[in-house]
Amino acid sequence: MDLPQIEQKILKFWDKKKIFAKSLAKTKKGPRFIFFEGPPTANGQPGIHHVEARAFKDIILRFKTMQGFFVERKAGWDTHGLPVEIQVEKELGLKSKKDIEKYGIEKFNKKCKESVWRYKSEWEKMTTRIAFWLDMKNAYVTYENDYIESVWHILKQIWSKDLLYKGTKVVPYCPRCGTSLSSHEVALGYEKIKEPSIYFKLPIKAESSLYFLVWTTTPWTLPANTAIAVGENITYAKIKSGQEKYILAKDRLSVFEEPYEIESEFLGGALLGREYEPLYQMKLDKPGYKVVAADFVSVGEGTGIVHIAPSFGIEDMELGQKENLPQVMSVELDGKVKKGLGIPGEGKFVKDADLDIKADLKKRKLLYKEEMYEHDYPFCWRCDTPLLYYAKNSWFIKMTAVRQELLQNNSQITWEPAYLKEGRFGEWLREVKDWNLSRERFWGTPLPVWECEKCGEIKVIGSAKELPKKLKDLHRPHIDQIEFPCDKCSGHMKRVPVVIDAWFDSGSMPYAQWHYPFEDKDKIDEEEAFPADFICEAVDQTRGWFYTLLAISTLLGKGPAYKNVISLGHVLDVKGQKMSKSKGNMVMPLDVINQFGADCVRWYLYTINQAGEPKRFDLKDVKDKFNRFFGTFYNTFIFFQTYTDKNFKPAKKFGPKNILDKWIVSSLNSLSRQMMNGLQHYDVVGPARAFEKFIDDLSNWYVRRSRRRFQKPESEKEKDEAAQTLYYILLNLSKLAAPFIPFISEEIYLNLKKPRMPESVHLCDWPAPDKKLINKNLEEKMAVTRQIVALALAERAAAGIKVRQPLATLEIKNQESKIKNDKELLKLILDEVNVKEIKFNPELKNEIKLDKKITKELKEEGMIRDLVRQIQDMRRQAGLTRKDTILLNFLVSKFPNFQKIAEKWSEFIKKETLSQELTVGGKINFDLEKDIDLELGKIKIGIKKLK
Ligand SMILES: [Zn+2]
Ligand SMILES: [Zn+2]
Repeated sequence: MDLPQIEQKILKFWDKKKIFAKSLAKTKKGPRFIFFEGPPTANGQPGIHHVEARAFKDIILRFKTMQGFFVERKAGWDTHGLPVEIQVEKELGLKSKKDIEKYGIEKFNKKCKESVWRYKSEWEKMTTRIAFWLDMKNAYVTYENDYIESVWHILKQIWSKDLLYKGTKVVPYCPRCGTSLSSHEVALGYEKIKEPSIYFKLPIKAESSLYFLVWTTTPWTLPANTAIAVGENITYAKIKSGQEKYILAKDRLSVFEEPYEIESEFLGGALLGREYEPLYQMKLDKPGYKVVAADFVSVGEGTGIVHIAPSFGIEDMELGQKENLPQVMSVELDGKVKKGLGIPGEGKFVKDADLDIKADLKKRKLLYKEEMYEHDYPFCWRCDTPLLYYAKNSWFIKMTAVRQELLQNNSQITWEPAYLKEGRFGEWLREVKDWNLSRERFWGTPLPVWECEKCGEIKVIGSAKELPKKLKDLHRPHIDQIEFPCDKCSGHMKRVPVVIDAWFDSGSMPYAQWHYPFEDKDKIDEEEAFPADFICEAVDQTRGWFYTLLAISTLLGKGPAYKNVISLGHVLDVKGQKMSKSKGNMVMPLDVINQFGADCVRWYLYTINQAGEPKRFDLKDVKDKFNRFFGTFYNTFIFFQTYTDKNFKPAKKFGPKNILDKWIVSSLNSLSRQMMNGLQHYDVVGPARAFEKFIDDLSNWYVRRSRRRFQKPESEKEKDEAAQTLYYILLNLSKLAAPFIPFISEEIYLNLKKPRMPESVHLCDWPAPDKKLINKNLEEKMAVTRQIVALALAERAAAGIKVRQPLATLEIKNQESKIKNDKELLKLILDEVNVKEIKFNPELKNEIKLDKKITKELKEEGMIRDLVRQIQDMRRQAGLTRKDTILLNFLVSKFPNFQKIAEKWSEFIKKETLSQELTVGGKINFDLEKDIDLELGKIKIGIKKLK
């Protein structure tokens, strides 16, 4: 089977017949199933992880469509923000914000706007190729004026609720990008790093040779130190070592490396207010360089004495405000150490200046020791520069004020996997921080806030109409030129020259995609398109889009923005490493798809493990799916095509009578019930695996045991019954599989389709289970039957006896009640295990006992069966159809007894091999001759087709 080729054919069929559009038209009047598309940025190549998310979205949407829901699927593009700016900066060779300003903001933003579409066609191609049906023609685009206007409207609502404010806070800051970041952005970029930490000596004032021993991982912050903190109730020790004395926490004495003796012990409270000589004396505006108490001091690491630099740490700053500590800013906004303050390494990037500071302390004999320290440190999620914590002016949304509402709204959301709800996501909400919204950048939704230069009065704009003049483009730099006279004084109001976090854009998409409330108000107000019934993205979005969607709907008082969410595990490489361009371990989706087919990749992603678990993408596993699952499914369909007549007509009414038929029909309806229940709860792997198991049952039991009815039926009626059943099964399977593997299911459906059926499987209804056809009792009995068969065959294999060799008896221990009286089931066992008789014997030690004694008669029969198989092989080799009759000739000179045996078995041989004549000896012009080695001797066979 060439799956990629079949898929190309189906793609053309869908396109030509407009099947996607028809599926929407068909369901137009149905109940709505609302889906939000998380917008990707099209300025990078789509990767295999995008295929993952799209495959999981598609399956649910197709399922709901087949159930009669109307599922609008508006595509969207995320177009603003740092990722775009950084790429353009690189291309233009710009190194800093100053460079951009020199280049011109207008020109720069124009480049950004163009660059976001760079890979649009690749994205569309991939989306189409994997059969993710999405309305890409009417996509929302976050940079469009209408979109921006809706975002402004939202921000004004937030402002009028008093939840938007300007504040000075220590914020995570990327010195390369020149902007602060939000806590959810920081959460995206943590990496484990090893860097030197130092223990340094801080001379205590008015004492000789008495030091505080302090520990830090960021030597570059030491010039900004204005205090040290101790725990009031922690026990400290003063120790003597040689000529010097030190103070540190008693529980941390292990860090001290020389011999020492303890002189005294006391609680931290006793140290409060003690002053020390700073390492670097700065000009302070209030008293500093003293010991204060802080409850975050612990004895888990360090020395129990914490260095405080209020400019560079969130806790430090809060403590500084509480204790009224002075603040020193020793670093420029570009991350370089300020010049002219006498700091070692001035002018260097802070992480490089660490070395100069260490060298300086060493020279001054204030460095006690160095130690490598492994910890998680945040890096810029876009440019990989280590982030600095920095006191800055920013605009914030007061998320902390709506924490309870966030939690309350989250409680209404169903998560898959369920543990994320209270785990990763719930924890995030419980610890929620105010949202640092402003970015000191260029390409983004401008913050619609104007501030009076004179009196500080603030005005927030909620629509384009409120601007004094119409702008063609709402972006910077045009918007920066808009000024207002102040209402409160004679001053001018100027726009705060920042843009907003692009995550706010994407979180606004439920409203902004419809230009709410300026158009389509009912979509939101009447809940025609809000909230989403379903969203699905990768797990990193718990701190990204999953969060911002919920944050904004909560701020607006609209409840949760979505009801159900599938959060997917990341796709990793074979070794479990993150895929990245730099590592060269990226998997290009189209490569794999062109090799194995999109259906195969989709199926792999659905079945390899639970949706929420990380997936180690292994081509071997994909290939395995292809061979085992697709091969089996497709071959079963080919079997049906091969053995049913061209003029086969599905019966209008069909009531299976054969036990295998009844069983497979019952199993199919059980399967449909199981799949429906799973999918309704957003479980994809459960239903997919159940389907996979069914295909195995179908091929390796139903078809296997029904083969004779197709190939050598006793009557036309017998054959028709089997064919009706298999037709019913395959037709329903094509529908059950359609949401998962839309191509192969379409291929099978189109081949089985009869006039008056819908023209595509994707226009069919989901096959609801028919309770009347489910017979659990039979399914259980069949399971027992198969178990007995499996045990018996295992015993045969262990004894090295071929299945073709008949044996006398099989004894079964204690399944009497279930299958003893069911002749049809016993017949299945007789045939499959190839025994003459079944006996029930409760005295058995094991479940079954197989009589492995091969009598002369049994041996002979085994040989004849082997012979028949070889003749059938010859028929195939000679190119005969399964209806051609033959003349069969044996040359028995090397096996004289054979003639007698052949005579005895002649009727059987003739029937099985479709031979009309059976001759011995002689020489004719055969179609094919062959020497055959039978267990009891050698013969030569000739066959000839009879006209
Ligand atoms: Zn950066
Ligand atoms: Zn004013």
